[in-house]
Amino acid sequence: MMPPFPAAGRVYLVGAGPGDPELLTLRAVRLLQQAEVIVYDHLVSSAVLEFVSPAAERIYAGKRRNEHTMRQEQINALLIKLATEGKQVVRLKGGDPFIFGRGGEELQALAAHGVAFEVVPGVTAASGVASYAGIPLTHRDYAQSCLFVTGHLKDGTAGLDWPNLVRPHQTVVIYMGLGGLPEICRQMMAHGAAPTRPIAVVQDGSIATQKVVTGTLADMPERVAQAGLKSPCLTIIGEVVKLHHSLAWFKPLLLHTVR
Ligand code: SAH
Repeated sequence: MMPPFPAAGRVYLVGAGPGDPELLTLRAVRLLQQAEVIVYDHLVSSAVLEFVSPAAERIYAGKRRNEHTMRQEQINALLIKLATEGKQVVRLKGGDPFIFGRGGEELQALAAHGVAFEVVPGVTAASGVASYAGIPLTHRDYAQSCLFVTGHLKDGTAGLDWPNLVRPHQTVVIYMGLGGLPEICRQMMAHGAAPTRPIAVVQDGSIATQKVVTGTLADMPERVAQAGLKSPCLTIIGEVVKLHHSLAWFKPLLLHTVR
């Protein structure tokens, strides 16, 4: 059992994992059941929200591309206000809060206002989605390292370190890269990656609507367009993608694997 909540307000920055609630940590589940307020993002699955105590107040903080329900400063101000009122607040984020989740920024704001906080890590999309797609991120024959990058940059994808990304024997995982996919494939090839380098795009990893599309740098933009994939999607580039065909174990509701 967890110790009783402290008398003063506190913010628990909690990772909700990629979608399947079975991937929540014990600590996350306990906090969801005991918190007074939950402030959650759109990436948090409805199955995860079922673990929230019915007595808790739920506040949707949104944040979708081009459709920001609450600006980051408003979210920071809300967390500070709730904790200052003495509330036990869970700030629930998809995946892991310290990986492309702006969790660090939220904690900086809390620290600046003297608000107590804790961090509960979660299964990040790279790890959770790759597992459910049957794509090991490293493998002795194919990849000895793995890079996590974001494809959602202020100036398109121009800021990515392409020479680093095209290196052989490594896996590249791109978060938020669906919109930039054609440009990502084009730049990888322009910087020396073979057009045949394997790539997978996984929609809704770990939940019933999961879809996996595999292909090559040369044909992927077209395959993804044909499959009509929607956000959230995770992109995995590298030889390890070839293992999907033999290691895919997760059976989503419909057989969505496109070969
Ligand atoms: N903090 C999160 C990432 C937030 S950025 C984490 O650690 O996972 C949001 C991006 O994560 C999405 O655009 C997508 O690329 C990826 N993502 C998160 N959940 C996903 C899922 N279930 N399936 C596919 N991609 C996912």
